[in-house]
Amino acid sequence: MIDFDKLIDNHLFREHRPKKIGSYYPSEIGGCLRKLYYSYKYPIPIQPELVKIFEVGNIVHNFIAEVMRSEKNNHVQLLDSELPFKIELNGFVISGRIDDLLLIKESGKKLLVEVKSTSRVDSTDEAQPHHVMQLQLYMHAIGVKDGAVLYVEKNTLKTRAFPIEYHEGIAAEALNRFNMLHNSLKDEKTPSPEARKDHEKLWMCSHCDYKDRCFRETPDSELGK
Ligand code: SF4
Repeated sequence: MIDFDKLIDNHLFREHRPKKIGSYYPSEIGGCLRKLYYSYKYPIPIQPELVKIFEVGNIVHNFIAEVMRSEKNNHVQLLDSELPFKIELNGFVISGRIDDLLLIKESGKKLLVEVKSTSRVDSTDEAQPHHVMQLQLYMHAIGVKDGAVLYVEKNTLKTRAFPIEYHEGIAAEALNRFNMLHNSLKDEKTPSPEARKDHEKLWMCSHCDYKDRCFRETPDSELGK
């Protein structure tokens, strides 16, 4: 029998390309800054299982774009999808792709939609702060004041959307975090282990490939734990 898992692995295989200092991505900036710093300094190839999870995210996003483009949904118009995004700032570049720009025909309102696939759509009562930060940055860059983080359950296609209004302060905080990251990388100064210091972000540590390095560099005792 043909090994279909192998076919999928072959299809999704990409050469590992370490990230370059000076090129940054909006989807990452709401996460732990130390983890992000380590990912530039000590790159680790993405595990095949994770590549598959990302691909499921792409498949879900393509489906949602198709739904918004559908003639059966002619009260909305998909103005753009996978819109290239670039900000040049203080010697570095932030770039990525904005998921979807939707026009609500009745109100004439434009809505930026950031699509996130999830295993359980009911697991949260609000949009996750790192997703909101990513969306705020996009709204800031293209001047659209209304957005939504749209969670889509992978197994059921059930959705949950959280409306987000543009907030200049959050967009500025995101830009400031890119500045901090860039300066840390240039000066080779490891940022503090922010997820371990913030109860709301502690969950990030359980998915972190750099946990051992982080604890070696800053033992709990130094954080007063
Ligand atoms: S273990 Fe936690 S605090 Fe340390 S780098 Fe990873 S996410 Fe950040």
